[in-house]
Amino acid sequence: MTTEYVVLNEETPDPAVIERAGQIIKNGGLVAFPTETVYGLGGDALNPASSKKIYAAKGRPSDNPLIVHVCRFEDIGPIVREIPPQAVQLAEAFWPGPLTMIFHKNDRVPAETTGGLDTVAIRFPSNTIAQALIKASGGYIAAPSANRSGRPSPTLARYCMEDLDGRVEMVIDGGQVGIGLESTIIDLTEEEPVILRPGFITQKKLAQVLGNVDVDRTIITPDSGIAPKAPGMKYRHYAPKGELVILEGSRGNVVAEINKAAAKDRENGIRSGVICTDETRDMYSADCVKSAGARGDEESIARELFRILREFDDENVGHIYSESFREGDLGQAIMNRLMKAAGHKVIDLSDE
Ligand code: AMP
Ligand code: MG
Repeated sequence: MTTEYVVLNEETPDPAVIERAGQIIKNGGLVAFPTETVYGLGGDALNPASSKKIYAAKGRPSDNPLIVHVCRFEDIGPIVREIPPQAVQLAEAFWPGPLTMIFHKNDRVPAETTGGLDTVAIRFPSNTIAQALIKASGGYIAAPSANRSGRPSPTLARYCMEDLDGRVEMVIDGGQVGIGLESTIIDLTEEEPVILRPGFITQKKLAQVLGNVDVDRTIITPDSGIAPKAPGMKYRHYAPKGELVILEGSRGNVVAEINKAAAKDRENGIRSGVICTDETRDMYSADCVKSAGARGDEESIARELFRILREFDDENVGHIYSESFREGDLGQAIMNRLMKAAGHKVIDLSDE
């Protein structure tokens, strides 16, 4: 199949292109499109054949459920068994936006879309191209991130092309995404709401609306052997081609250790890369040194992380060393992705 590549302006998306993209999805085809979190790979959420195509295009295991995207709160009712009161509160506070809620599904949602689960994940994105496309497609787009399974999520349309050229009917380029990490997922099907995946809407922000909110234990202790409630969290994710390790400890220790390792890599003919911040960028002697922004600007670090991982692939970096980003509100979400990308390899250089 030939993939059509179109550029759209987020403020004024060309209605003719949106209409054509909507028809592709209504006819059972796939379109990659921008959202505020990462690019999505969209198909008709209520058509089991479309969901099967999404799994095939991504190379994704079929027990890893998809998120259903809507463009109005009212569209939830027709596909769920009930709308708990917390969902109304959370939607008022955070929709449209980077929050996904899990509901009990009804029969209109095919098992192919939910990986066989009787629950369904739903999100109302704020990106105007995404909203227009959902409307033009009939109201329900199933969309995982638009990358081949296991690779970093795409924050630019050219990364969708890199992974999906020839596998989807259309890629819509809406520029670099604003957030850069996938949505926060909160489960509302149990007695107490639980965060299944940390994201831009933090535990603190959710607690301001709901009171106390727990985080799924497997996110905090990922090697505990317990199956995560969000099936996707058990798979290796976001992995760059090079080997990534995170270094924690004082700035001096981290810089010294990374420079030592980079020198050794050079002797061995391995290209080395560093993920750092504006404050430390000039202290490193590795081959590719990339700052994700000022250390205090965690929104920048979230937005740049996946792009940096992909750039290291393009530059054939064999060993990647990353500073740690635990502090701050978004630390939980950033470290969740970075730890997965690193296969949980952390070197602790703290002094005592
Ligand atoms: P992605 O679209 O690639 O960000 O992946 C969607 C994520 O949502 C996966 O990690 C899934 O495990 C999670 N998810 C989707 N539907 C459900 C559900 N019904 N219950 C729990 N997690 C879900
Ligand atoms: Mg994904």
